[in-house]
Amino acid sequence: MKIFICLVSLLSSNFVVAQERWQQRVEYTMNVALNAQTHKLTGDQKLVYYNNSPDTLTKVYYHLFFNAFQPGSMMDVRSRTIADPDRRVMDRISKLAPDEIGYQHIQSLKQDGKAATFKVNGTLLEVTLPKPLLPKSKTIFEMTFEAQVPVQIRRSGRDNREGISYSMTQWYPKLAEYDFQGWHAYQYVAREFHGVWGDFDVKITLDPKFVIGGTGKLQNPEAIGHGYEKTGSAVKRPKGDLTWHFVAKDVIDFAWAADPDYTHDIQQVPNGPELHFFYQKNERTTTTWKNMQPVAVRVFQFLSSTFGKYPFDTYSIIQGGDGGMEYPMCTLILGEGTQAGLNGVMAHEVAHSWYQMTLASNEALYAWMDEGFTDFASTEALNSITNQPNTHASSYASYFGLVSSGLQEPASQHSDHYTTNRAYSTAAYSMGAVFLQQLKYIIGDEAFYKGMKRYYNTWKMKHPEPNDFVRIMEKVSGQQLHWYYRYWIQTTKRIDYGVGSVTEVNGTTLVELQRVGEFPMPVDVVVTYREGTKELFYIPLNEQLGAKPNEDKSIKRTELDAWPWVYPIYTVQVNRKTSEILNIEIDPSQRLADVNRKNNLKELNEVKPFKDPTQ
Ligand SMILES: [Zn+2]
Repeated sequence: MKIFICLVSLLSSNFVVAQERWQQRVEYTMNVALNAQTHKLTGDQKLVYYNNSPDTLTKVYYHLFFNAFQPGSMMDVRSRTIADPDRRVMDRISKLAPDEIGYQHIQSLKQDGKAATFKVNGTLLEVTLPKPLLPKSKTIFEMTFEAQVPVQIRRSGRDNREGISYSMTQWYPKLAEYDFQGWHAYQYVAREFHGVWGDFDVKITLDPKFVIGGTGKLQNPEAIGHGYEKTGSAVKRPKGDLTWHFVAKDVIDFAWAADPDYTHDIQQVPNGPELHFFYQKNERTTTTWKNMQPVAVRVFQFLSSTFGKYPFDTYSIIQGGDGGMEYPMCTLILGEGTQAGLNGVMAHEVAHSWYQMTLASNEALYAWMDEGFTDFASTEALNSITNQPNTHASSYASYFGLVSSGLQEPASQHSDHYTTNRAYSTAAYSMGAVFLQQLKYIIGDEAFYKGMKRYYNTWKMKHPEPNDFVRIMEKVSGQQLHWYYRYWIQTTKRIDYGVGSVTEVNGTTLVELQRVGEFPMPVDVVVTYREGTKELFYIPLNEQLGAKPNEDKSIKRTELDAWPWVYPIYTVQVNRKTSEILNIEIDPSQRLADVNRKNNLKELNEVKPFKDPTQ
């Protein structure tokens, strides 16, 4: 016994075991009734909350998103004071009448049967627990609430501009996430909905004329009698209010939409989810929604095979909302646009099933891992369907546009706190996509796609942090990559390399490369010879502590010594006479987000042999 104790103490003193990542868990059971005359939602919510943290919690926070849709709310003021407001919001909140605003009123709240005190602060509910919640323990919150569904302003609400009755997103009191960084209880002023992983059991009662689409799987299709029949044959609608029962497991949110005029189509993705389409059939939707359905099937197939298998067995594409917004197992999108627009927004929202609904990064803090990765994945899905190369040119163009606008801010900012919406959206969508395309440039395609799958399989149903992604990419590539993440995401430093002087010395050519920008990168330089061949010189950056494998076996590649990042100049020795060289080009694949590509290519004039006129 003594020896045993001794061994244990020896082990524990030498090997300190790092704490594994923990995450909180929720189990919601909700019963709600929606009155389609008054647009009021009443109901109760039972929430089993698992505190898996090492901390004792004395408070919890809920989001009350509907409270944002009131004149004078933070969202209203933000929209009326930001330089480039979202056109969908503008000053519309300030003009809402009392029967048009949104609210969530908490009528009662108990923790394990004891009344809890709570305080509403804008879109947050602060709850003081009657009994502290100890580490590794669970508690039960029981709440009754009443909400008024606002006129649709942003994402959720009633009567959107295409006439969809109810877009029910951010519609219930939703517990805020608590993790190793503490509470993520942000006021709702524009965007982003970080959530706690868990299960939802939701019963929605409303007028039987409505059809509901949403998160989860309908548990009682027979009782409902319509909306979920595969044959498409008309089924008699029962009389009296109907209760729709949905269950969703391992999700971070629950959304739904309801309309009396939804057409419901179903498509099966081979080895993948069953797709449900809900839309109002009219001359602006009938053809485009039919054409979009096989494209959606192919998008799912591509994303599952390229980035990891979609983890749920259903997905619904629902007309609603005010653009496109992603939710677990469903999306709400506007439905009356062009075919290209509809396919594009569908593909984007579907790709969020990977980057947010499965890999649930904190989208408020790391919007580039959410919108950027999604933008990247959906672009590659559509490129694959239309046989286009993956240049991600439009993402680069919007990044370059932001740089020249002078509005750029670091992509590491909280999504709501950018000075302009443009700086946010370009950092999140475009710079996030360029982050990945440029990563291909650094580590090569093979390691990149292997890493994307490994990232998915390692972190699905969790909240990956930037470091988790970078570490996986380091492991698959054998390179250090944090330098790249820090420069691209945490600063606004720019990449600019140029070809400088070219001189001939003893029958060889010395090419001077200049690092003009502050952002160091590995450099691909291609020398094209007059006789028609090319040679690639690859210069790793010393920070990589590694090198990219040869990407194109058809061109001779010479790997040179690493470029120490402090050096502004690097000289490449080409073992040819200068007269044999046609041109020299940095980054011929154009995957480097080089803000000045004009100095990347140097054409060498044919050198005429010198003739002394005096002779
Ligand atoms: Zn998105």
